[in-house]
Amino acid sequence: MGKLGIVQVEVSTRCQLSCLMCPKFQFKDEWISKDMDMEIFHSIPFKKFRYAHLQGWGEPLLNPNIGEMIETARKHCSVGLTTNGILIDRHLEDVLKLDLLAVSIASADAEEHMAIRGCRLEKLKENIKLVSEQRDREPKIVIATMMLKNTVEQLPDIVDLAHECGADEVIANNMDYIPSEQLVGMEVFGSSPDPGVLEQIKKAEKKANELGINFVAKPVKLEEALVCAEDPIKNCLITVDGRIAPCVYLHLPTRSEYISRYFRGRKTKVPKLYFGHVSEFNRVWKEEYRRFREIFERRLQTRYQSLPLNIPDLPDVCKTCYKAWSV
Ligand code: SF4
Repeated sequence: MGKLGIVQVEVSTRCQLSCLMCPKFQFKDEWISKDMDMEIFHSIPFKKFRYAHLQGWGEPLLNPNIGEMIETARKHCSVGLTTNGILIDRHLEDVLKLDLLAVSIASADAEEHMAIRGCRLEKLKENIKLVSEQRDREPKIVIATMMLKNTVEQLPDIVDLAHECGADEVIANNMDYIPSEQLVGMEVFGSSPDPGVLEQIKKAEKKANELGINFVAKPVKLEEALVCAEDPIKNCLITVDGRIAPCVYLHLPTRSEYISRYFRGRKTKVPKLYFGHVSEFNRVWKEEYRRFREIFERRLQTRYQSLPLNIPDLPDVCKTCYKAWSV
């Protein structure tokens, strides 16, 4: 068997920020803030995977062992992480060993950025430049932003910002998990995409082309996918306490057994889903987790039918997840 795809590793659930659209802010009273310990980290079978992304719900550079974690994982596969960018200067040596460094930016406007994320945009730009200006630098630098109704017109400016900082790529994500009612309506996707949003995406694409950087915008039209982009057939999440889950959307580091999400404007609740502990990875992957993956495998097989009429239903926990609807 060839290598599996991506193992996402939740190395910390702590974060210095309280961003408006983050579940940590929305569920602050029940959030469990902690760092993954090295014993759990060492039991992750990195050699089975092509790539390890060291981030779940939290800021990975807050884990005091992050340097050792990067060193350990990179012996076996490519390694990257997404960070809020605040601590890059303090971890420069570690960060330079990554294959991919994604930095979250909410807006190209300093005031708006402060209002959404509560941190100084200028400081993040300086930190990104610290990496990009290194000679023979290793990591690909990606600016990750979230398209929201009130920030989407900033997309072309974010491309400018990325270019100014020496980044290689901009990824425009959707607010694909909506944890609270006050965020409903801020998403830019829908059954028929807003022409204004499509225009901003086009402008950003054009600018990126001119500046010679990559630009990727997630789809903004809701359409049922055979397999979500998280692709549980090949990938999985290892939570901060070592449990194996299909994705971050079925896990939250809270005291509740359930996950609340708003889907098509309505509140829904799904049970969290774990398949066992990483110390028993081989058995769990072949047994408990296999049954979940097979649902997606059967869905995928219908792509070869001339009339794909009998597509197996999505797992119940996925029906109200926007990732299952292609955004
Ligand atoms: S559809 Fe959503 S909940 Fe289901 S596996 Fe994909 S990302 Fe996870």
